[in-house]
Amino acid sequence: MVSVIPKIEQLTARITRVLGCNPGPMTLQGTNTYLVGTGPKRFLIDTGSHDVPEYVQNLQTTLNENNISIQAIILTHWHHDHVGGIKGIFNKLLQSGTVPLLKYPLGTSEDTSVSEKYSYLKDQEVLRTEGASLRVVHTPGHTVDHIILQLEEDNSIFSGDCILGEGTAVFEDLADYMKSLQIIADLKPDVIYPGHGPVIQNPVPQIQYYMDHRNEREKQILECLESSKSPMESMEVVKILYKDVAEHLHPVADKNVNNHLTKLKKEGTVKEDDGKWFMSKL
Ligand SMILES: [Zn+2]
Repeated sequence: MVSVIPKIEQLTARITRVLGCNPGPMTLQGTNTYLVGTGPKRFLIDTGSHDVPEYVQNLQTTLNENNISIQAIILTHWHHDHVGGIKGIFNKLLQSGTVPLLKYPLGTSEDTSVSEKYSYLKDQEVLRTEGASLRVVHTPGHTVDHIILQLEEDNSIFSGDCILGEGTAVFEDLADYMKSLQIIADLKPDVIYPGHGPVIQNPVPQIQYYMDHRNEREKQILECLESSKSPMESMEVVKILYKDVAEHLHPVADKNVNNHLTKLKKEGTVKEDDGKWFMSKL
């Protein structure tokens, strides 16, 4: 059952969620943005998509009703449904000035469509506002610049797109993504506030389930390659592991298997030659 996320909701004394009002297949009910702190100036985590007047209006209402303003905007990663709202916020909400835009560096491919300049965060840096200390933790995998923010006062985590409130997250690099999941599990958060979907209470078993599921799949892929007499195409592996899954879903499964094979190649366990995969040690 999908729980409906209200457009504005105070979640705890320190956290107010303002929904990005940008629903879609990839954003679920929309991007969650969070105002964090207890004082007159607060952090805003993420900004939703470009050109959503309803979101900017809801954010403005929240700020006005509570008589607060934004100290700085923290972006969990470069994707447009997280940084897209910056322009609207700057144009409509901050006519009287500007606020720092904080983000982990993406490296050479930094998105230049955002005209405002980012200030770059460091791993393990702590950002402080009245009532809230946010530790920056670099968690690549979904994107190379992805961070989560650990709210030290509450032992909770703002997980961006690394962990979602519903379904499973997509990623660019499975090896990095798995390491990031482990980092989050090791922090043993009591609550996760995801970039999309509802709040996750007691999230550690769910994170462990994600990791177990991936590890199990990886073991099966390795068993396939080990028992094969000759190097295999990824689709051959799919046909064995997903034999009970409808054939029209095999291309999706193939993408998944390729993610695993790329990870295993990066780790030195398997090799690839001309689209065919085999164990490094024969
Ligand atoms: Zn997102």
